[in-house]
Amino acid sequence: MKFLLTFFLLFATYTASCWGFFAHQKINYQAVFLLPPQMMLFYKSNILFLSEHAVDPDMRRYALPEEAPRHYIDLDHYGAYPYDSLPRVWNAAVEKFSEDSLQKYGIVPWWIQTMQRRLVTAFKEKNRTAILKLSADIGHYISDAHVPLHASSNHNGQHTGQQGIHGFWESRIPEMLAENEWDFFIGKAAYVKLPGMFIWQRVLESAVAADTVLEIEKSLTLHFPPDKKYAFENRNGKITRQYSTAFARAYDLQLKGMIERSMRQSIEAVASFWYTAWVDGGQPDLSSLTATPLSEPELIEYEALQQAWRTGLIKGREH
Ligand SMILES: [Zn+2]
Repeated sequence: MKFLLTFFLLFATYTASCWGFFAHQKINYQAVFLLPPQMMLFYKSNILFLSEHAVDPDMRRYALPEEAPRHYIDLDHYGAYPYDSLPRVWNAAVEKFSEDSLQKYGIVPWWIQTMQRRLVTAFKEKNRTAILKLSADIGHYISDAHVPLHASSNHNGQHTGQQGIHGFWESRIPEMLAENEWDFFIGKAAYVKLPGMFIWQRVLESAVAADTVLEIEKSLTLHFPPDKKYAFENRNGKITRQYSTAFARAYDLQLKGMIERSMRQSIEAVASFWYTAWVDGGQPDLSSLTATPLSEPELIEYEALQQAWRTGLIKGREH
């Protein structure tokens, strides 16, 4: 089991998108330390579960066709910032554009609100498994909402000849710099009065930043020696082309800390949504919830998820 998981992590880092497995796991992990003491004990004793399962939603994309749109929204489809043509309330948006169309261009800001409501219910019911699974899941979607290219239809630079930029921004650079060079000392979780408005704000900021993410890569490429942009690296016995360390560092420098800032904002938002759900759920005493995180049937379900993911076929758009 342990070997398999290690294998997944190694393999997954280079195949999956969505912040990359490393960053998603790191975000959920770090978020635990922002929680108040009444939550911290419970979350800390399940910190490995929360970080390991931070990537379940990405694996689910290989099993469920309806999963993919939950990770992104192509805001540029709705005109220009601040995309006023798109109602922020789900029912109004459905009425205007139809659900099929909304699903086609992504639903992440609404899906996070659905997950948040479920998490509140889980706290009310003191349902340990649901609290942990939903906490891990919502951490993923909130983090995706903070990735600029998750708010743009040009999500992998495919319209501008910049293919690969998605994984470059959210996987390659965090894997290179987060552990040793970035600071994850962040204050504490805060109550979010209007989770819907909060997440819309973040998604709008992501959409605005998407242009910068693409433009800087383009101009840097023009000014960078062409033979120095990529490097060939040996990954588990396979030679793969990768953005070079020099190019990655130069890009990160020009982004002026954008990726680190997004990760920090993600961590803070994840902790705040967990905390808010707990408060809205009546601040239940979590100290009595001590059984194992997953029951036998749930373990089987998780294995099936892993199995589907291993087939490597995403049902829906890769994002
Ligand atoms: Zn994702």
